[in-house]
Amino acid sequence: MALCTIMVTSAFAQDYFFKNKAPFNSSIPSPETFLGYPIGTQHTRHDQIVAYLTKLAELSDRASITTYGETHEHRKLVMLTVTTPKNLGNLDAIKAEHLKFVNPNLNPTNYNDVPIFVQLGYNVHGNEPSSSEAALLTAYTLVASNSPEVQQYLENAIVFIDPTINPDGRDRHAQWANQYKSNTLVSDNIDAEHNEVWPRGRTNHYWFDLNRDWLLAVNPESQGKLKWYHKWYPNVVTDFHEMGTNSNYFFEPMKPIGSQDPIMPKENYETLNNLFAPYFTEALDNIGSFYYTKESFDGTYPGYGSSYPDLQGGLALLFEQASSRGHLQDTDYGTISFAFTIRNQYTSSIATIKAAVENKAYLRQYQQKFFKSAITQKAKTGFSAYEFGDAYDMNRNKAFIDELLIHKIKVYKKGSKYVVPLKQPQHRMVQTIFETYNKYRDSVFYDASAWSVVNFYNIPYEGLKTSSLGEEITNTDNLIKISKVQKSNYSYIIDWDDYNAPAALYYIQSKGVKVASAFKPFSIKTSNGNKNFNYGSLMIPVSKQKKSSSDVYKIVSEAQSKYNVPMYTTKSGFSTNGIDLGSNNFKALSKPKAALLIGNGVSSYEAGEVWHLLDTRVDMPVTKLQMRNFSRANLDKYNTIVMVSGSYSQLDSIQRLKLKQWTSKGNTLVTIARASKWIIDKKLVKETLTKKPKGKDKDNDKSPKKVDRLPYVDASANIGKKRVGGAIFKVDLDITHPLGFGYRSASLPVYKNNNVFLAPSKNAYSTVAKYTKNPHIDGYISNDNLNIYLKPSASLIVSPIGRGRVVLFADNPNFRGAWYGTNRLFLNALFLGNKITIPKGRSN
Ligand SMILES: [Zn+2]
Repeated sequence: MALCTIMVTSAFAQDYFFKNKAPFNSSIPSPETFLGYPIGTQHTRHDQIVAYLTKLAELSDRASITTYGETHEHRKLVMLTVTTPKNLGNLDAIKAEHLKFVNPNLNPTNYNDVPIFVQLGYNVHGNEPSSSEAALLTAYTLVASNSPEVQQYLENAIVFIDPTINPDGRDRHAQWANQYKSNTLVSDNIDAEHNEVWPRGRTNHYWFDLNRDWLLAVNPESQGKLKWYHKWYPNVVTDFHEMGTNSNYFFEPMKPIGSQDPIMPKENYETLNNLFAPYFTEALDNIGSFYYTKESFDGTYPGYGSSYPDLQGGLALLFEQASSRGHLQDTDYGTISFAFTIRNQYTSSIATIKAAVENKAYLRQYQQKFFKSAITQKAKTGFSAYEFGDAYDMNRNKAFIDELLIHKIKVYKKGSKYVVPLKQPQHRMVQTIFETYNKYRDSVFYDASAWSVVNFYNIPYEGLKTSSLGEEITNTDNLIKISKVQKSNYSYIIDWDDYNAPAALYYIQSKGVKVASAFKPFSIKTSNGNKNFNYGSLMIPVSKQKKSSSDVYKIVSEAQSKYNVPMYTTKSGFSTNGIDLGSNNFKALSKPKAALLIGNGVSSYEAGEVWHLLDTRVDMPVTKLQMRNFSRANLDKYNTIVMVSGSYSQLDSIQRLKLKQWTSKGNTLVTIARASKWIIDKKLVKETLTKKPKGKDKDNDKSPKKVDRLPYVDASANIGKKRVGGAIFKVDLDITHPLGFGYRSASLPVYKNNNVFLAPSKNAYSTVAKYTKNPHIDGYISNDNLNIYLKPSASLIVSPIGRGRVVLFADNPNFRGAWYGTNRLFLNALFLGNKITIPKGRSN
């Protein structure tokens, strides 16, 4: 590696970045001229990036710019289109020709006549900043170079440049790197410039990894991009990243064994990647850069920027550059400069365009075959369609249908259910969302090994051999039809089954109306006839409020129009069955006042998931309490504290006592995953972790036994097999327990991506959810982890501390903002937790 310290000057920039791309149109400013500093000497803010690309589109008839979305922090998401002026003027017609190849009912054969569509995506991880700088250089090259090579690219390609996929994260990081930069660069790894503070810049505003969100589409960045994507269906898509400072460079092919999505055409992994790899080899060899392929990364999870386009007949490409994280950093071979990292990403960008242009016909044929096979291919399951729907929760149905529609999956309404046929252009996305797997060739996954989204939403579904379709649903605006709540002078009753019920409850509570929860079911005559109400149903006694009945009605109907939740009224407190409305089994609820512990050592993903859920779905404030402020925080302001996975080494014995004393006053502490292990390890609760039974020393896995000697080279693979990297299991939920309120079925899928195994509580009433006898639904788990640890374990426990309690989750109920099915368990802990008493009673 040529890792000398680089002082970039203008002349140098020409040589260093743009070798062989001259002559340049002098009326187009280079990034350096526009920004006032050479690329690589500063981290360029996103607004400057947008300004530069906007300038290019203004000055050049080769480029146009569009805004495809906006981030949580209101930064613009932009796409620059670059091609010849002739192509640009003719873009609508070219697009129409291009889209014929993704329509399985058409048979165009003019593969070579239509320019190839290349989408260069940059900087999905905010603190992997080299790629957005490379985006500026790539845009400049394509817009301003008059070299015959670039001319040829433009004639044969429409290039889309998405300069910053994650602007909120990028700016967080750029600000950090720039503010600690010295005039005399400091390459010492321990310097502040190279060590961002929590939560760092990788993620977006709510600390979500946008490179996992293409499938789940929870964030506006991904929603905007998916809408754009399904208008254009590019043939080649890039995803640029950074990795450890001591690495070199990575391009595809990825790890060959096991790194394959089982439903992806083999041709994508084998032929296409091998077609492109020589272009990167040549380009990087030319500038003397070192690289590797094949040894790591997998494209199994379909929600990466380097895998989703593969499921749309394109070729998605992952690049990983060793990070200078900062402007200059020490490595084993001297220093690595920001400019050096940028040059590799730039070089790969141009090589990608070259490879796409030179294989234009092949890529088009491939995409056409991909979509044609979607409607002819039979699923191995033998199913022709999936039928789904939850009879008790329209808002969850709606959220799931929105998820299907954003991927252009065709959905039909059939009676009270919904049907998705497999015979449709998005056949493989239907498989992705509904099919489950348990056999994998490899067991070490870079990420999750389960992604059957229908289980995330806990939507009852079944595969059908034959099915009629019914009426197509094209949007969900009018999917939910509920009758408007009438004014009552006696009581209002609200279903707790609906996904939005907690948000409606919080709204009503925050307006000062007292609400009670039914701890037993009942049937009562309502304005809509006699109705059965489930555990947890909310009841608002009108005469007991400090407000007039008109004011109460106003608040209740506002909550309904905001959250679309079914609501009912009664004129009497007498139930036809079960508890009456004056029963002590209605418990008056207090409004949750929640704090979430954050800071060093805490999983920012899990913390962000809690923040996102409460802030965007429940519209409820949550105090993000930094651990460095824990000693001076007045905890009495809160009735609920949430601790997600983390090491919590910052909480010393005095602070742990503070937490324990606060809980014992009657408050609720919620611990998730590794925080549950922490609370057990620190003996704050009398619960235990699952241990290997005696005499079970022999592993039944093929994986190595403790006493054996093993080849050194296998160590990391062997260790990887013992991790539960992300899989879906079935639990048996006690739906009579307040934490299980709002569920109709005891069978519930949960997401596990940790090795926290809670032993069932010794108290017979404390184990709220336990894995079933055959818990596996989807994804990889080793035999030992499944049989010895998981099967005998609990998924959800509530354990007393004084008059309070700790709610211990073994699994993550809020994973990636997409676990609509288990969010309710977590929200029950917040809204009902303080009403949970733990009866005495030993289990057998
Ligand atoms: Zn990355």
